Amino acid sequence: MTAPLASRLRGFGTTIFAEMSALAVATGSVNLGQGFPDYPGPPEVLDTARAAIGTGADQYPPGPGIPELRAAVADHRERSTGTAYDADTEVLVTAGATEALAAAMLALLEPGDEVVLFEPIYDSYSASVAMAGGVVRPVPLHPPADGTGPWTFDEAELRAAVTPRTRILLVNSPHNPTGTVLTRDELAVLADLATGHDLTVVTDEVYEHLVFDGARHVSLATLPGMRERTLVVSSAGKTFNVTGWKVGWVCGPAPLVAAVRTAKQFLTYVNAGPFQPAVAAGLRLPEDWFAGIARDLQYRRDVLVTGLRDAGLPVISPQATYFATVDVRGVQPDGDGLAFCRALPERVGVVAVPTVVFYTPEHAALGRHLVRFAFCKSDAVLAEAVERLRRLA
Ligand code: PMP
Ligand code: GLN
Repeated sequence: MTAPLASRLRGFGTTIFAEMSALAVATGSVNLGQGFPDYPGPPEVLDTARAAIGTGADQYPPGPGIPELRAAVADHRERSTGTAYDADTEVLVTAGATEALAAAMLALLEPGDEVVLFEPIYDSYSASVAMAGGVVRPVPLHPPADGTGPWTFDEAELRAAVTPRTRILLVNSPHNPTGTVLTRDELAVLADLATGHDLTVVTDEVYEHLVFDGARHVSLATLPGMRERTLVVSSAGKTFNVTGWKVGWVCGPAPLVAAVRTAKQFLTYVNAGPFQPAVAAGLRLPEDWFAGIARDLQYRRDVLVTGLRDAGLPVISPQATYFATVDVRGVQPDGDGLAFCRALPERVGVVAVPTVVFYTPEHAALGRHLVRFAFCKSDAVLAEAVERLRRLA
């Protein structure tokens, strides 16, 4: 029998997150691979979900999401970015950010259309583009030469990636896996490119609230001329420590949101009935609660980054997200981050994710020696991980 997998999905094996979490369980390792918190979300959110189970909320919610959640998303968006969206026509609830991104690609791309995006990049992006028959045009983000500070892109490399077939500019800031927050100046370059080439922009902001050291997340949709061409994607998973609930949403101008809804309704139709009111309750938490989760995660970042440095590992400390990046060349003589991660459970009982998996083959060499460690973990788990990683020296 010939291989059953359709050609457009060849090369997309099991996701690294599934592989590494299974390895952590099988070897009893500390799992700093897959980005999920090991502590619960806020009681206001969890209690609302518990109360909703066993009620009518268990049945299919309305296709675009329950009105209460769409209103909460729109209010929250206006509160945090100043941009108003109509809750009925400009907000769509999805099965996590993943479905929002996939539905956007399926809805907007003709076969052969090109999507410009930065690498390294979250792994579902390339697969979503491929499923829609599109083609990715990756532009490298360059790590800081001195090992500190954010990653950045070269404007000439970015502009060179745009062709007459480019349809979408797909941006993720705050950025997984580098933890970089694009500056207003960088966003202005992206906005200029998008308006100049009449591109639709999809911006993935799932880490919007997990930003440290006074860095500020600015949504690309807030720049002049951008609201009308931008779909903003976000999700409850990271903000409320409920990554398994898969409640996400899209905000954008009505024609773009209607297009995404057309694809979305035939992917899952709806999901997460009892979790939708719970996420609405979360989005209505006060401002200082959101500042509090960033402070808490910044503390966890500092614990891990300090521990890794004390263990002699060079770390690029992130401005945001769940993840810190380590250069493993000092502890893995051939500089192969993938081999390092596959051996790490055996070596010291820790699981991490090789940054190389976030690249297409074109730029894979840039990430070969880098490894991503998640710090969204309890104090005891972080302390144990750091202790184990010291044995690498
Ligand atoms: N985008 C980025 C950048 C991510 O890191 C993740 C992982 N959570 C997702 C999208 C997927 O989000 P969700 O779990 O809501 O589908
Ligand atoms: N977003 C999380 C990460 O980057 C987990 C994603 C997943 O398991 N698919 O680690």
